[in-house]
Amino acid sequence: MAHNTTKMNKQTRVFKITSSNLSEVIRECADIIQRGGTVAIPTETVYGLGANALDPIAVNRIFYAKGRPADNPLIVHVASVQQLEELVLEIPPKALSLIEAFWPGPLTLILKRKGIVPDITTGGLDTVAVRMPSDIVARELIRVAGKPIAAPSANISGRPSPTNAAHVLYDLDGKIDAVIDAGNTCIGVESTVIDMSGEKPAILRPGYVSAKKIEEIIGEVEIGYNNHLTDPPGIVRSPGMKYTHYSPSATVMLLEGTQDHVSNKIREMYAELTCKGDRVGLLVTDMALSSLTNDIVYLGAKDEPEEVARNLFLGLRALDEKGVNIILADGSFTHEGVGTAVMNRLRKASEMIIQL
Ligand code: AMP
Ligand code: MG
Repeated sequence: MAHNTTKMNKQTRVFKITSSNLSEVIRECADIIQRGGTVAIPTETVYGLGANALDPIAVNRIFYAKGRPADNPLIVHVASVQQLEELVLEIPPKALSLIEAFWPGPLTLILKRKGIVPDITTGGLDTVAVRMPSDIVARELIRVAGKPIAAPSANISGRPSPTNAAHVLYDLDGKIDAVIDAGNTCIGVESTVIDMSGEKPAILRPGYVSAKKIEEIIGEVEIGYNNHLTDPPGIVRSPGMKYTHYSPSATVMLLEGTQDHVSNKIREMYAELTCKGDRVGLLVTDMALSSLTNDIVYLGAKDEPEEVARNLFLGLRALDEKGVNIILADGSFTHEGVGTAVMNRLRKASEMIIQL
């Protein structure tokens, strides 16, 4: 059953990639993109909802299908540096160093845009966010379509990002033209977004590429994001930061602290809440908690943030499907590397954060 509530008016085609049909699927989907349609595409981070970034009518279809606020700009995906040059006024030397170090891959650069990029794609800003995905399906589609592809995560705005085609269809079946099913994505959280358009580089969204790795290439960077919507508001440099995000239907409560403190608190809260009649799901890194309930998802080993990242959105959606109304999320995994991005997403998804 699809989750979305607004009118469904399209037959969404599902293209499952097999060992022999890649070029055929790419050709058909490139045709949809060229004609102004919407195609959900696998990338190495999460599934994106793609359309021709230079066609305002096509881009409008992304906003409409997702219910995305018009002032939240999109990331434009390119398949070559030449395609990037067509979109931006300049590529400063530090931006070029980042491109050489991390592209293709999960790093999005914000640069001053050219007039060719429509206002709707950038939310009216004079900058544009661009990245080159490493996923071969995504890159081939951009190359064959011959267009830069705007692609925010392929979910209803505010919900957890989709990491497989079933999640995309749950949110967007009947609202988009097609989805390319290439299995689960390998990273599981979105790209790092870094603003390279001003005096000082600033990370606006943590992602797979850590601040530490970026600083090894270009020196010091500012941290320009808040981890929670209730953090004191600064100047919003990235419009997406002011919206609720990544939330499943169930209420998420996040517990942060050492493993012992978190596991004990989860046991205590589980008992209290179920006693009151709540159906409680657990998103944890402590296998020992599996004796409590079947409504549980194991995020991965505490010191393996890449495993935790892969399972995060999958876990939030899986617990929703089980029908729980409260999710107790274990925040005791390492916050190093991609762990920073996982914590950022979990905090934004949570209605309550308990520090132990
Ligand atoms: P999503 O498309 O859901 O992966 O989110 C893209 C993120 O990049 C959002 O937080 C946007 O606000 C941010 N973003 C995109 N373009 C720009 C831009 N030109 N300036 C600042 N932030 C941007
Ligand atoms: Mg998103």
